[in-house]
Amino acid sequence: MTEKKKKRGRLLVISGFSGVGKGTVIRRLMEEHPGYAFSVSATTRAPRPGEIHGKDYFFVDNQTFDCWAEEGRFLEYARHLDKAYGTLRDHVEALREEGRDVILDIEVQGAVNVMAACPDAVSVYIIPPDGRELYRRILGRGTESPEQIRKRLTKAVAEVELVPRYRHVVVNDQVEDVAREIHQLLHRRRGLRLPKREALKKTRQIRRDLEEILKEKDFCDTINNCISK
Ligand code: 5GP
Repeated sequence: MTEKKKKRGRLLVISGFSGVGKGTVIRRLMEEHPGYAFSVSATTRAPRPGEIHGKDYFFVDNQTFDCWAEEGRFLEYARHLDKAYGTLRDHVEALREEGRDVILDIEVQGAVNVMAACPDAVSVYIIPPDGRELYRRILGRGTESPEQIRKRLTKAVAEVELVPRYRHVVVNDQVEDVAREIHQLLHRRRGLRLPKREALKKTRQIRRDLEEILKEKDFCDTINNCISK
């Protein structure tokens, strides 16, 4: 008897404002549903404490990254805060062939390129409940300098332009709820808690909140106080 061919897995592209809690949502999705696999990207940035080569990223030097890019080994690649990040085509293909639904945790420019190359990809952008909440979450990590935080927020503001290109926009209020919502979206079950038009309106408000925060003259003092606590 011939073995029934496995159904090819889908692509789930997830992006979101820096600090929105994407990683936690993805971990939750994967804990709840073993059919998912995470696409391990290549990056030129250094590993953070606890990160493992081959599990979180393939940490490579600039030369290796450029060589892989030239060889066409990336499904997409982009630069983010002066570092390069790329999705490995063969790695993603192999997982999809196994029937796994592959999660790509990538920034907006890369996501837009994947959407163009793979029109069947399901793309989701995660937003925070509001801009101040996002700011509080980034400050709460207490790991970045005021300059790094300023760069992150500035990038977040610039990203907003591309958010309408995502098929879905979801709010990360409760991690369990947003993970369930994303899973249902992939399986074309009803699930969207906030219509896209409303979510985009909220996204524009978040941009205004962030622009205001960036203009506040005590921006750096607030961060320094938080870091020194
Ligand atoms: P981090 O350095 O904080 O792990 O990631 C920074 C940003 O790079 C995040 O927005 C993450 O989604 C994005 N990123 C991670 N891997 C890739 C990738 O392969 N391609 C693209 N375009 N972005 C990525």
